[in-house]
Amino acid sequence: MRILLTNDDGIDSEGLIALYHALTPDHEVAVIAPDRNWSIAGHNKTMDRPLRVTEREWEGMRVYASDGTPSDCVSLAALGFLGYRPDLVVAGINKGPNLGDDITYSGTVAAAMEGVISEIPAIAVSIEDYLDWHFETPAPYVTRLVREVERNGMPAGVLLNVNAPNLPPEAIRGVRVTRLGRRIYHDQLVKRLDPRGRPYYWIGGDIPQSHLEEGTDAHAVANGYISITPIHMDLTNHRLLKVIEGWDLS
Ligand code: MN
Repeated sequence: MRILLTNDDGIDSEGLIALYHALTPDHEVAVIAPDRNWSIAGHNKTMDRPLRVTEREWEGMRVYASDGTPSDCVSLAALGFLGYRPDLVVAGINKGPNLGDDITYSGTVAAAMEGVISEIPAIAVSIEDYLDWHFETPAPYVTRLVREVERNGMPAGVLLNVNAPNLPPEAIRGVRVTRLGRRIYHDQLVKRLDPRGRPYYWIGGDIPQSHLEEGTDAHAVANGYISITPIHMDLTNHRLLKVIEGWDLS
């Protein structure tokens, strides 16, 4: 397959290079990635300025760094930058998990969403923890997942969200196909004063935790499994359609 590889951690991330090495033996891989870190930037399209793309070289291979967002990198490819439309978008390996509610913040998952909106199947890949990552752990699972996507195809409007425990390969217990879990964020509003006495604010806190319900992505990763969650873009709550139709709104 012709694969577009991107990420949200930026083109110099070891996670991107790990996926590149995992996918190049079997596929034609093009890399367009942001020139800086766009983690937690969500699904973000640049429309107020032009995009610049610069060529770089990796081990004799030409890759592209864009000053746009992860989603812009996918748009560039979907709209003809490479001279062909990729068959698959792969984003990652992200440094940090994208579990449950995290996907609404994630630039990695947003890149995959942009693929799906552009009618290109997409896979997002993340590894838990925020330092000393075992990128060698998810890489072969992504290779097998891509092979299965090639063999079985993917329904329109769906992406696959992969999360790996940060464990050495021999410690992985297997693969679980999961649903999205729920995250517990510990954000706090911290108010400080600048040197001129004006207030400014930080939003942030400790590393998020998860409700560890059986069958969820977070439960699988916490128990040593690679998690694969099929995600569709239809956020409609179908159960509530009739209920809200019954409200007195006219
Ligand atoms: Mn990131």
